[in-house]
Amino acid sequence: MQGIPENIKLFSFAKKGLIFSHIYKVKDFPRIRDIVTNINDEVKVELSFYMEDNNIPCIKGKIELKVALDCQRCLDEVSLHLNPSFNLAFLKNEQQGEGLDSSFETILNENEEFSTIEFITDEVLISIPMIPMHSHECVSYKDKQPIEEQKRENPFAILEQLKKSNRE
Ligand SMILES: [Zn+2]
Repeated sequence: MQGIPENIKLFSFAKKGLIFSHIYKVKDFPRIRDIVTNINDEVKVELSFYMEDNNIPCIKGKIELKVALDCQRCLDEVSLHLNPSFNLAFLKNEQQGEGLDSSFETILNENEEFSTIEFITDEVLISIPMIPMHSHECVSYKDKQPIEEQKRENPFAILEQLKKSNRE
């Protein structure tokens, strides 16, 4: 186990069967930092590189972090525990993946080298629910609007006025 290099060198790491782990901070990931409020919390990452069928580089990994987001029901903060794990096979073409079993997620990829931070970011972002909400029944923000917004003009008030002006 060793720290994770800044760039992933896919074939080179896979051929050597390298295993990395590192504890990042949320603020190390610019695209995650922008959407959460707990930027000083930890992000635990483990990545194992290996070759499948001698020619398909793969990354098996797991990530663990908490993200504090706005609950889409009550708009208060909700803290979600995310624990994405993956087993990715990087293919040059689709035919290459035909022999792989269903435990693999396949990615068409031409790049031998790419950013570790961006790679981890993508895996975290797809694990965040589209509509983050509290698991308990929180109160919808629609039900707790300020009182003045609930005061509606009486629709009959205009009618009343019309009647009055007809009488005059
Ligand atoms: Zn809520």
